[in-house]
Amino acid sequence: MTTEHVDSAALAPYAAREESSRGRRFPESKPQFRTEFQRDRDRIIHSNAFRRLVYKTQVFVNHEGDLYRTRITHSIEVAQIGRSVASALGVNETLTEAISLAHDLGHTPFGHAGQDALNECMRPYGGFEHNLQSLRVVDELEERYAAFPGLNLTFECREGILKHCSVRHAQRLGDIGERFLRRQQPGLEAQIANLADEIAYNNHDVDDGIRAGLIDLTQLNDMRLFRRQYDTVIAEYPQLGERRLVHEVIRRMINHIVVDLIRTSQARIDEARPASIEDVRLQSRSLIALSDVTLEEHRELMQFLRERVYRHYKVLRMTTKARRVIEALFSAFLSNTELMPPEHHELAARAEAALGTEGRARAVADYIAGMTDRYAILEHERLYDPAERT
Ligand code: MG
Repeated sequence: MTTEHVDSAALAPYAAREESSRGRRFPESKPQFRTEFQRDRDRIIHSNAFRRLVYKTQVFVNHEGDLYRTRITHSIEVAQIGRSVASALGVNETLTEAISLAHDLGHTPFGHAGQDALNECMRPYGGFEHNLQSLRVVDELEERYAAFPGLNLTFECREGILKHCSVRHAQRLGDIGERFLRRQQPGLEAQIANLADEIAYNNHDVDDGIRAGLIDLTQLNDMRLFRRQYDTVIAEYPQLGERRLVHEVIRRMINHIVVDLIRTSQARIDEARPASIEDVRLQSRSLIALSDVTLEEHRELMQFLRERVYRHYKVLRMTTKARRVIEALFSAFLSNTELMPPEHHELAARAEAALGTEGRARAVADYIAGMTDRYAILEHERLYDPAERT
């Protein structure tokens, strides 16, 4: 049995296909019973960085409660939404899944607060961008295979992982950075994973925000996306308890947005009629999109979450603590890399020999970015709490 067309047979002409893939950085023989994109997905699932997502914050610090999303459950929800959209549009479901599962591999501990703090620390040394770090994880930092560094993923998967990138960084990234310089698009699978990410967090943060007591139904009913589904559910089930009501509204919201996304994207594809993934890349705009109305409602909800959840004083207290932990770790390790475990100290010494202080700082950032929330807290205690054993 050959498996090369397991994915390809039912695919639209503009989908990513393994036979027209731009390939891997280090050439490898074809997998026997999997497609190239299945191999990508499998390598991501088996990586250390993927397992660490279990203990990394999405919005709520991991130890605040067992029901909140962490980066791993977030990534799985992104993959679920992404696959539904990909299969409805006839593009590569497996590649969409792989990109979705990998999209946050470079995230620091403590969510966006951690990313901002590390970026601030790294400002004199080239900055820190989590998208770029996700690519760095799969290209360089994972140490699992004898023949190459990283996971050696396909170009199409790497293209999807690098969602955004500054021009300065794009210039030194070679083929994977080119689209940012030429203002081109990534494949549809990458575009889908990108929007699936936004849809997933917008909806699950409503759920988590309610659970944490930061927002309530009265406030949410000012949001058009929420209100529409709320009214329908209440009309059908007037006696429904709050927990089930919230879930019912959120599942209908996700469905509403995803259906809108599929319809709008299909219309754009029909209009542009791309004959291949190359045609998709040459489009002046993204073909995967929400309708104007839904986009506006989606942004309204995003803005609401920013004000009411991400900037809630309880969340701000947590993010301030997180910032202090990251800053303290960075300054201690940068001034003396011997404080890091030997393998990281050695990496820092090698990077410094090659690239000077910038190399040393990058090795420190790699070490910190790889930490889970609880590991970062533990390292902070070991370094700064006199009573703590090292
Ligand atoms: Mg994400």
